Amino acid sequence: MKSLTLQVCNKCNKNDAIYKRYYSGETLCKSCFLRSIEHKVKKTIAKFSMVKYGEKVAIAVSGGKDSLTLLYILNHIFKLNELGKLIAVTVDEGIDGYRDESLRIVKEFCSELEVENRTMSYKELFGTGMDEAMKLRKSEKTSSCSMCGTFRRRALDVLSESCGADVIATGHNLDDHIQTFFINMFSGDVERIGWTYPEPVEYGSSGIKKIKPFLGLYEQEIIFYALQRNIPFQSEECPYMNESIRSDIRLFLNRLEISHPGVKYSMYNSVLKISEGLKNRNTTKKSVKCIVCQRNSTSTFCSVCKTVAMLSNNLDSDK
Ligand SMILES: [Zn+2]
Ligand SMILES: [Zn+2]
Repeated sequence: MKSLTLQVCNKCNKNDAIYKRYYSGETLCKSCFLRSIEHKVKKTIAKFSMVKYGEKVAIAVSGGKDSLTLLYILNHIFKLNELGKLIAVTVDEGIDGYRDESLRIVKEFCSELEVENRTMSYKELFGTGMDEAMKLRKSEKTSSCSMCGTFRRRALDVLSESCGADVIATGHNLDDHIQTFFINMFSGDVERIGWTYPEPVEYGSSGIKKIKPFLGLYEQEIIFYALQRNIPFQSEECPYMNESIRSDIRLFLNRLEISHPGVKYSMYNSVLKISEGLKNRNTTKKSVKCIVCQRNSTSTFCSVCKTVAMLSNNLDSDK
């Protein structure tokens, strides 16, 4: 790492700096860096009123760096401020050889932090895990990630509701957020941009809220934090990850950030303003109940029930 060690932290003016935050010009020592990340998370939670005092928060923990770091930081903030109760919830997609390792990491880390961990599998919820679903899907049009994303959101809802949680927190970071913005722009889905404004929205039949406390953090800063704190995480990528447009956008933004430090941060602020401006215009979004599962949906059959039906039809025709 360049000649950073020669510089002094410009927050405490005492220790050697180990990190340079290009978008703000700060150079930080280890303890000032760690504190600045925790402070940013606290500020994001407060700014968007993400958690009310006494609420029970289910943290979606997959075993990756973002979710385990989120668990660590929220646990730290909650204990310090006696905010509310935390529970770690994990979805087992049924991916042989991949999920087993992360489930072990999550279990060990949760017991170290003394946070309860509950798991639910696609198999018990939808009758099929990802390995089977990939064999059954037949058409390549149903991408692995979109099928898995549909299932994961539902599994998280059901699991968190069964724990009596009021809020679901996920580890989505600043990079994820602006990538999603570009994906929606490129697909012409302007209405969806309004839905991404980080306001806790009531969701599903039990009114569970979704929050993203890492919204204001660069992915790179989360990795650096996790390494400094020795937070364990699974680095292996999902075997079904496909080359979606997201990977191209991610590469493009990362390249841009290297030549123009801080552009991702400015983009993040622009996305916030644009999505805030659009969020109240979504008056046309009608919500009905899915006739199979009775959950809120935009059509008679929700996307989860459609996917389950597609898979079981394919199973029948294979017999
Ligand atoms: Zn310092
Ligand atoms: Zn349904």
